[in-house]
Amino acid sequence: MRRGANLPWVGDYNQAVVLEGIRRHPGTSRTELAAASGLTLQTVSNIVRRLLDRELVQEGGVPARLRGAGKPRTALSVRPGQALAVGVQFEREHVDAVLLDLAGDVLDSCREQLSDGPATSLHPSPVHATRAVRSLVDGSGNAAAVLGVGVAVPGPLDFTGPVRSSAINLPGWRGVAIADLLAASTGLPVLVENDATAAVGDLWRSPLVGRSFLHLHVGAGIGGGLVVRDEVLRGESGNAGEVGHLVVDPAGPVCTCGAAGCLEAVAAPTAVVRRYVERVGAPRARRAGLVLAEHTVLDDHDRLELLAREGDAAAEAELERAAAALARAVLGVVNVVDVSEVVLGGGGLRRTGERVREAVRRGLAVAMTREVHPVQVRLGEAGELAGALGAASAVLHEALSSTWVGVHGPAREVVISPVAPVH
Ligand SMILES: [Zn+2]
Repeated sequence: MRRGANLPWVGDYNQAVVLEGIRRHPGTSRTELAAASGLTLQTVSNIVRRLLDRELVQEGGVPARLRGAGKPRTALSVRPGQALAVGVQFEREHVDAVLLDLAGDVLDSCREQLSDGPATSLHPSPVHATRAVRSLVDGSGNAAAVLGVGVAVPGPLDFTGPVRSSAINLPGWRGVAIADLLAASTGLPVLVENDATAAVGDLWRSPLVGRSFLHLHVGAGIGGGLVVRDEVLRGESGNAGEVGHLVVDPAGPVCTCGAAGCLEAVAAPTAVVRRYVERVGAPRARRAGLVLAEHTVLDDHDRLELLAREGDAAAEAELERAAAALARAVLGVVNVVDVSEVVLGGGGLRRTGERVREAVRRGLAVAMTREVHPVQVRLGEAGELAGALGAASAVLHEALSSTWVGVHGPAREVVISPVAPVH
């Protein structure tokens, strides 16, 4: 399923397979690419010639440690700066944007603070996002290499026509045609994804294939991306992965979605900060260093972790309640989908990440598959930029990647397989 707004496609399927092989294996040779892909050496050589002409790959340029000893060969690597993408992520407090290159490295990033909250950040005019995109594109030194803009917004989204947001998470955005608005204001193709997109970033930058994992994103809200055997699980309408709306406490508070006791209503930073204030009162919370403005929720949440470490029992209790709820939800997802990794990310975990990781790890001691395979729990390397990075990766992925074929057995080193394109 391609949802790119006219993203440029670099070539045919076999070309994507070869480019993917070179990208994931810097230093590989034509002979190795042919052996791994099943394409003839002549076909691989022709494709590599085209990629060299388009300056997407180069001969040499491979670090000595990756070159290996022995047989003489011409090592191939991508030219990272020749294909770039911007990723944008909307949070309640700010808009983050990153500039990503073909090698998966973040070249630049910027943040636009939202003074009025998200309701005014995109609609009627996407001023903040446009400014962030323009500053990264202008600063790239190679605007022509920017393939497009990926945007991560809280779901659910309506992908049936021009991508529109739903009112459930962001009341001011009902029916806003996000991609069209931003494409018009930036002049670039725009691809819109929900929070699941953070998982795409993890996928794009991974040297492994055949992975199955949950990417849990804790920002101001909570979302998730599910990947099964390298395929992002989309669901009927592209909205799978709303982990934040798993009910973890039926007696809990009513959620924005209308249900009671959703994970987001119990464990999102907003909920944790609110409960802490209810416990100790606003004056004491302020004296403890909390600011208690809508746009400081993540900072206040960070502050609670510091207070807990200093012995504040109320902060400790509320953070542990949230961590336990997150662990309960993750256990449910792991049991239903059978993943072998849980990646935790987002600004809501920048201070509490280790606490949550430990709670999730403990919770998974009773996972149904525990005697079949371990489930690793780790903090994502992209941290709070995971959504923006994933959105940028999604652009590169849509424009340049082959679709992975199913792999059986544990995640392992990449095997490049030519199959018919599904696009
Ligand atoms: Zn809910």
